[in-house]
Amino acid sequence: MAKNHAGEPSEKGNKVSVPDFLISSVVPAGTQVTDPEHGGAITIGAAGTVPGVTPGASNSNSSSAQIYILDWTKTSLGSLPPGYGLMDPDTAPGFLTPGIVLGHEIGHVQYAWGKGSPAALNTGQNAVMRENDVRRWMDPNAPVRARDVGIP
Ligand SMILES: [Zn+2]
Repeated sequence: MAKNHAGEPSEKGNKVSVPDFLISSVVPAGTQVTDPEHGGAITIGAAGTVPGVTPGASNSNSSSAQIYILDWTKTSLGSLPPGYGLMDPDTAPGFLTPGIVLGHEIGHVQYAWGKGSPAALNTGQNAVMRENDVRRWMDPNAPVRARDVGIP
């Protein structure tokens, strides 16, 4: 039997299709990518600067996924501005790290692959849950992400 990238049995080509292609790319600010979960064509860049610009994006289907993360060594990831209901509490900017951004996008991929949390009603909720996993690993008392929306 074939093995996926994690060395686990893969049923691809048999009755059950197991997704096993996940490609992550670190890209410079200004890169145009396709992210169907966030409105289609979007631009990678610092959060909280320009409407529609985001430091992370993903493009998934049932058998593969591509994640894009802003190159944080050259451009700040930015932060989630308070006052838009993005964070709980929503009184201070939501800080971002590469792990937080990656956790969020993995949540979108996980949902697209049918492996999301049973409690997640949609891809955005699953992305927020995985993002908050990372936030809580870093600091159990940190503010958490409240919802997944376009960053103003
Ligand atoms: Zn999202």
